[in-house]
Amino acid sequence: TQRFVWPMAQFGQIINMYQRAYASAERVFGLMDTPARIAEDPDAEPLEVADGRVAYDDVTFGYDYDPDDESSGEPIVEDISFEVEGGETVALVGPTGAGKSTILKLLLRMYDVDEGAITVDGTDLREVTIPSLRRQIGYVSQETFLFYGTVEENITYGTFDASRAEVVEAAKMAEAHQFIQNLPDGYETKVGERGVKLSGGQRQRIAIARAILKDPEILVLDEATSDVDTETEMLIQKSLDELTADRTTFAIAHRLSTIKDADRIVVIEDGRIVERGTHEDLLAADGLYANLWAVQAGEIDELPREFIERAAR
Ligand code: ADP
Repeated sequence: TQRFVWPMAQFGQIINMYQRAYASAERVFGLMDTPARIAEDPDAEPLEVADGRVAYDDVTFGYDYDPDDESSGEPIVEDISFEVEGGETVALVGPTGAGKSTILKLLLRMYDVDEGAITVDGTDLREVTIPSLRRQIGYVSQETFLFYGTVEENITYGTFDASRAEVVEAAKMAEAHQFIQNLPDGYETKVGERGVKLSGGQRQRIAIARAILKDPEILVLDEATSDVDTETEMLIQKSLDELTADRTTFAIAHRLSTIKDADRIVVIEDGRIVERGTHEDLLAADGLYANLWAVQAGEIDELPREFIERAAR
């Protein structure tokens, strides 16, 4: 299917449609929020984040992969090694299905690595308690989970002692305040299952407000603004820039313009790292990233054949 998916990588909207369809399939199968099959080590200690340095060390993982079982499925991501210093931003870039979200889900321990290790300030994730890990990571994804409760409760989710003023402040930064005020009961409006239905973009802005309020040590933005219009995205981007400024951030964005200032960019293709560097490094290297950039900048109409053919192999 790669041959089919690749040319679509050039059209954000189509990609979003694909991702939404995929995300709802995930929901149907109940995979979305299952902290699934993760066993906590009885000796696990709460995670203490000091510098916020995160390292992936030869990480291999597959949803159906078992290194000890030859009849198991294939790895989805393989031999992934990169690190991000405390306070830096690393962006993961690459075509749909390359494995970017999977790599970030491993950091939240939605799944455990099959081989290799992920460490935070040198501590292996498998040695820390799962709630302490998730408390320190803000996660904004393509599909925001809203539970049945008020808008305010959905924003404070994970932050227990926030005042209304703080909630409103966070909502304003996330460009969510205005639409919330227009809901039937404002911040008291019930949303989620059986509640008022919010659009994808509105849900994303609630998730961003949630992350702003949570003020986590580590931030994970997986297509955080994929469902909002360009104008709103520009407004939110200012707040996101502030939010990411001095905390370790992982970002996946289809629109490369939003991640070009990242301290490091890691390019993933078919589960492997194929390029890495800053935006300038990668443009100079004239590989996959440079060509994706040229497509998005309108400099070329489509990705050169060699990249499409490489992905189809
Ligand atoms: P990206 O974020 O780069 O678009 P993903 O990490 O979402 O890529 O997906 C990588 C591959 O893993 C895809 O082939 C996708 O179908 C598969 N995949 C993603 N989530 C699951 C899951 N929960 N179970 C099985 N396969 C999955």
